[in-house]
Amino acid sequence: MEDKLKDKLIEYWIKDKVITNKKLIEAFKKVPRENFVKKEFLDQAYYDTPLPTIKEQTISQPTTVMIMLQALSLKEGDKVLEIGTGSGYNSALISHIIGKKGTIYTIEIVSELVKFAKKNISKLKIKNVKIIHADGSQGYKEASPYNAIILTAGTPKIPQPLIEQLKNNGRLLAPVGPLYEQVMIKITKKGERLIKENLGPFVFVPLKGKYGY
Ligand code: SAH
Repeated sequence: MEDKLKDKLIEYWIKDKVITNKKLIEAFKKVPRENFVKKEFLDQAYYDTPLPTIKEQTISQPTTVMIMLQALSLKEGDKVLEIGTGSGYNSALISHIIGKKGTIYTIEIVSELVKFAKKNISKLKIKNVKIIHADGSQGYKEASPYNAIILTAGTPKIPQPLIEQLKNNGRLLAPVGPLYEQVMIKITKKGERLIKENLGPFVFVPLKGKYGY
């Protein structure tokens, strides 16, 4: 049942050319989303919807995650920063794409979710995901600069520290806008210049912390 739904999602992405990056499809196949959802939602693990995790937070919708990861143009060996670890699912996908030489630092502000994500990630024996309990709206300067930064919570503005922590030619993705009606913004850093693209409307849970709502 679950496998059928998983295959259907993949079929839809390929047929409608939503996802053209093969590596991304491979990662989706390999990472069991069922490992990252709460027991009561196991039968919905491959529904194309967000699902509740803990404290009114969610694991994002599969299609949304895949669109964001595709736009990030991740390469093997990249160093990535994620703000909003949640269940850890997105980090697990990124971990597969960047490979053993890459590292992902992922920041979560809710301590219960830090625990939940650590448990989920360690079950899969993934080694290159570093989960940190902190306010990610300020980024994570200690390991900067990053090839790619991804915000998985909606933000009123792109926090300036995140731009500073991006490498030259680095990519940043963030849902930006008022509460519950963001547009996905992609920023590519070219020296002093920031190239901005709008990938369309999305809805995310709100970013907390210093640069949040
Ligand atoms: N990427 C997650 C989904 C994230 S939902 C997954 O794959 O499951 C957004 C998450 O951002 C929530 O877990 C929320 O607690 C967290 N969050 C909100 N504000 C934050 C902040 N300032 N720093 C770090 N995490 C934050």
